[in-house]
Amino acid sequence: MSQLLWPLVRFLLLIEVAASVNFFHHRYEQLVQALFNVHNECPDITRIYTIGRSIQGRHLYVLEFSDNPGIHEPLEPEFKYVGNMHGNEVLGRELLLQLSEFLCEEYRRRNERITRLIWDTRIHILPSMNPDGYEVAANQDPDAIGYLTGRNNANGIDLNRNFPDLNTFMYYNEKNGGPNHHIPLPANWKSQVEPETLAVIHWMSRYNFVLSANLHGGALVANYPYDKAQEQRSRGYQRKSNTASPTPDDKLFRKLAKAYSYAHHSMHQSPTCGEQFADGITNGASWYSLSKGMQDFNYLYTNCFEITLELSCDKFPPQKDLEKEWLANREALITYLEEVHQGIKGLVSDENNNGIAGAVISVNGIGHDVTSGDQGDYFRLLLPGTYTITASADGYRPQTVTVTVGPAGPSLVHFQLKQDTIKGPMEKKAPATSLSSKALQKKVVPRAARKKTQR
Ligand SMILES: [Zn+2]
Repeated sequence: MSQLLWPLVRFLLLIEVAASVNFFHHRYEQLVQALFNVHNECPDITRIYTIGRSIQGRHLYVLEFSDNPGIHEPLEPEFKYVGNMHGNEVLGRELLLQLSEFLCEEYRRRNERITRLIWDTRIHILPSMNPDGYEVAANQDPDAIGYLTGRNNANGIDLNRNFPDLNTFMYYNEKNGGPNHHIPLPANWKSQVEPETLAVIHWMSRYNFVLSANLHGGALVANYPYDKAQEQRSRGYQRKSNTASPTPDDKLFRKLAKAYSYAHHSMHQSPTCGEQFADGITNGASWYSLSKGMQDFNYLYTNCFEITLELSCDKFPPQKDLEKEWLANREALITYLEEVHQGIKGLVSDENNNGIAGAVISVNGIGHDVTSGDQGDYFRLLLPGTYTITASADGYRPQTVTVTVGPAGPSLVHFQLKQDTIKGPMEKKAPATSLSSKALQKKVVPRAARKKTQR
């Protein structure tokens, strides 16, 4: 483009990118309109798709950002943000709409940081996982709204207590041997989950998500797995101090949670909502234990690392606060997204350079594996350090390498596996658990302790 034309084009672009989301509480139709407005403004880098419908028939729309929307590009990680899982916790929903518009506008303004993010990442944004609950909450008189009105879906079910309980299998495996990753679902799981939960589980199975956050309200803290404690001694409603229930990736999860809390205007100072959290972060179980939550399910069933963000003391903040809240969270939302680019990633292929799907990537000393996606690419989030990594796949000889991970960007570590001609297919791994789901259900699993601030 000629040097003379460029200032004119930039000027026109700025005029065209008028704010379309604005700061107000979006009812369902307005939310849909806002998503399509962003898509129309940035058609080349966005796609809208639905992962299913709520009980009352509202679409669970996702807005995707990518330089190639609709396509998984090998070595480009998939990221997701999920908002409004509790219908009455609405700030996340509005922040995700603001974020969508921000990404689109800044890309068009050639903001280098945002452009790089969209080129290197496939970002999926689900502003509302519980649109039915939202409408119930939004219909209330703001001054008279009940604390839990609209929290649940239209069947009265809390979606963050509705995922299959894989922690029980994991704790069993911890004692008796067995994995804490890609734990199979119980046989009857589909009949036990709500349509919104089912849609999200199918979504997680379709995309090889690497990193995620689940946006809530009612407190100001970044909460990381596990949410469910191994033993829940308290059954009552009283508060109690729990012991932390860390994952094998505890240090990484703390870093991820801090990435958000420190980029947020005030979360790291933990000043509000009557509860103190050092650095503005907490292990879920050490706050209070909850069962069948979404973040634990991400970790135990998929390759995805998810944290739960509590973003405001007020679950349904007044409209006048929305702009201030956006400014308090904007940098944190972008910073957390960028966290998907760390550790190692690479391709697992055979001797003819065909990608091997489902290859297992193990890190010595961290008892939690990830697997490669359909095209053989894998992503393993890791803190800086030196690691011994092994790739293995059925019918191939495992390959082990030592790699040093630096603080910036992910290191590329490819594996080319040789066919195991001597032994034939690798010895089949022991099933995830030798205990039937029926037997597990008989084990006493007390209900999660409840308290006023419920994530
Ligand atoms: Zn919540």
